[in-house]
Amino acid sequence: MPTSPLIRLRERISGEVVLPGEPAYPDLKNGFVHQGQPAAVVRCAGTGDVQEALRCAREEGLPVAVRSSGHSNAGLSTNDGGMVIDLRPMAEVELLDRGQRLVRLGSGATWGEASQVLGRHDLAISSGDTATVGVGGLLLGGGIGWLARRYGLAMDSLVAAELVTADGAIVRAGADSDPELFWALRGGGGNFGVVTAFELTASRVPGVFYAEISYPRSEAAAVLKGWRDYLRTAPEELTSFAYLYPSFGGDPMPLYLAACYAGDDPAGAERALAPLLALGPVLTKDVTPRPYLEMLGEPGPLPPGLVPVVKNRFADRLSDPLIDKLVAETDRLETLYVELRSLGGAVAAVDPAATAFACRGSEALVMTVLLSNDPGPEAEFGSMWSQLGALTSPFGYGNFLSSATAADVAAVYPPATYHRLAAVKARLDPDNVFRSNLNVPPAG
Ligand SMILES: Cc1cc2nc3c(=O)[nH]c(=O)nc-3n(C[C@H](O)[C@H](O)[C@H](O)COP(=O)(O)OP(=O)(O)OC[C@H]3O[C@@H](n4cnc5c(N)ncnc54)[C@H](O)[C@@H]3O)c2cc1C
Repeated sequence: MPTSPLIRLRERISGEVVLPGEPAYPDLKNGFVHQGQPAAVVRCAGTGDVQEALRCAREEGLPVAVRSSGHSNAGLSTNDGGMVIDLRPMAEVELLDRGQRLVRLGSGATWGEASQVLGRHDLAISSGDTATVGVGGLLLGGGIGWLARRYGLAMDSLVAAELVTADGAIVRAGADSDPELFWALRGGGGNFGVVTAFELTASRVPGVFYAEISYPRSEAAAVLKGWRDYLRTAPEELTSFAYLYPSFGGDPMPLYLAACYAGDDPAGAERALAPLLALGPVLTKDVTPRPYLEMLGEPGPLPPGLVPVVKNRFADRLSDPLIDKLVAETDRLETLYVELRSLGGAVAAVDPAATAFACRGSEALVMTVLLSNDPGPEAEFGSMWSQLGALTSPFGYGNFLSSATAADVAAVYPPATYHRLAAVKARLDPDNVFRSNLNVPPAG
């Protein structure tokens, strides 16, 4: 009896091919946010497995989704009827050279796993804010987290990447080896191949100080304006986020500021954090030294069926009207969550043309999440953004989007970046095999 190509693939790889109906399938078919029904999830144990999986998908005409740890907000790492190339088993974290702080990360590792190993050596890599998020998707999109103002985006620590391209070739991209691809990988997402491993330079981070402060909601706009003013002169060691939580119909939630001081000297931390405590009446405060690993939280499960609507834009200037509007909208829309992430510092110090992450000069990222899929709030969310757009940059961050339309892509890559990415794409993936991403079709 003839066997299916997906079953025959089992004989050619050392990882697993998981098919619908098999016991492991229900746990592997979905991403963190989105559900899928792929024809197969190929759990790759090494680069050879990735090559074989890709060859099989191409021969069978199966759409490919690449997964590191599955946290895509837009559901890009699963699909219906295609193949998921799952890199999660390739999760090695190796300190290659302690003196040079050179680190190799398998692209299926999570940031929690990376930070745990590196923390033993007083090292860390600027990442995000969540332990279970994967190295692959976050690095290829940018990576905005707690160390951003001190050490830049996560991808700013990248030295080289190894990938399997659409034709099955193994390619290394770095400053000395295909520098144009190296440029494209830093911000251009999964457009160019399956990255199997990353090499990065870690930073010396023996510890950090974490502060979480809450203020009455009635003071939110005034506190945010004071925060914005302070950010313009704050030391680079300080990266801070502001949170306006949804009320879900109950009492308004306080405004929260959370900050990471990237240093272990208590006097420096106290000096940097003191202005935050003077921004308004403080309801609660918690300031603690901790290892960097403990800065990374774990997201709770989403309520069944809820797919958050996520949209963002950079704010070149966090203006008074923008702050007033965000506060007013969270008062009005009870399922709206707003998060502001401070930028500048090391993020802005990189030449905008040096990587495919071109929007370097903003003072904050404005992220909004609608925690409702009802048509009414969704329509209000849309009309809110049509007004907010006049107060923000036209460009945003690709990893905080719950959709990946051509309009989304155009709002992530300014035209010069887009055309340069399309040229790299034409060279490496002329058939657009890797299109489950913020897709940049091949030029021409
Ligand atoms: C709870 C949560 C917290 C988050 N916090 C932050 C944060 O603090 N900072 C921040 O910057 N972002 C954050 N994000 C966004 C996050 O960066 C993106 O969702 C990212 O894509 C997740 O990475 P992943 O590897 O888990 O994604 P996956 O879902 O596995 O992959 C997403 C996409 O990335 C591409 N990709 C992934 N791995 C590879 C690879 N090895 N080779 C080629 N392409 C690949 C593919 O196109 C894939 O479809 C968060 C997301 C969530 C859900």
